[in-house]
Amino acid sequence: FLSVRNLSKSFGIVKVLNDVSLDVHKGEVVVLLGRSGSGKSTVLRCIAGLEPIDGGDITLQGMTARKPSDLHGRVGFVFQQFNLFPHLTALENVALGLKWVKKMERSAARKLAEAALGDVGLGEHLNKKPANLSGGQQQRVAIARSVVMEPQVMLFDEATSALDRELVAEVLVAIRRLAEQGMTMLLVTHELHFAEKVADRIIFMHQGEIVENGPTDQVLSNPANPNFRKFLGALK
Ligand code: ATP
Ligand code: MG
Repeated sequence: FLSVRNLSKSFGIVKVLNDVSLDVHKGEVVVLLGRSGSGKSTVLRCIAGLEPIDGGDITLQGMTARKPSDLHGRVGFVFQQFNLFPHLTALENVALGLKWVKKMERSAARKLAEAALGDVGLGEHLNKKPANLSGGQQQRVAIARSVVMEPQVMLFDEATSALDRELVAEVLVAIRRLAEQGMTMLLVTHELHFAEKVADRIIFMHQGEIVENGPTDQVLSNPANPNFRKFLGALK
């Protein structure tokens, strides 16, 4: 479904991704783990078409991207920072892409946006501006904004790291719900307990390479790679 083959990427003379190959099957939830600087965000950014690649192939639903923009609109991306428009309400933030990218009529766009916000538990907050929403609520608006565009795969890059502890759970619930609805997802998270619950498979990166990749239960109970073992040990 999503297939990355021999992806390589350098910044200047520094090679940050070396022959990265991974698959995410339809409806699968894959969690990408790794130390800071191991290349997790770069992998996601390449898949989202936010970063030109030096080598390899990214194929989504049978179509291999020839240029980064081929991936735009087909991949949803939720970042650590929510990047909502401060002068627009939650509803307007979510409806914006439907109107401008999908050229949808205002009333149809608002209807879909309303439903998407309802799905992330924000049905009561449609008309609030970001400043009047909590961090967790803002992040859920960002999720709704992305999901409403009906991407073929959703990427999350540390979507809860900017949040206060007590707000993390509500965002994780929204992500988990998406998983249960069958959304195909690749996520970077530091929430190992969450990964354990939601991930079908775990991939561990070390210095720009994938060194562990397997079913969640299996890799967590019996990690093969020494660096992955060390990483897990440090979290306990
Ligand atoms: P973290 O857990 O801290 O978010 P990460 O695994 O997401 O780390 P990346 O952000 O993918 O790591 O970075 C991988 C390497 O690429 C790092 O050494 C980083 O300094 C480098 N890098 C990332 N983006 C750029 C850039 N735009 N220009 C130069 N170097 C970059
Ligand atoms: Mg990162």
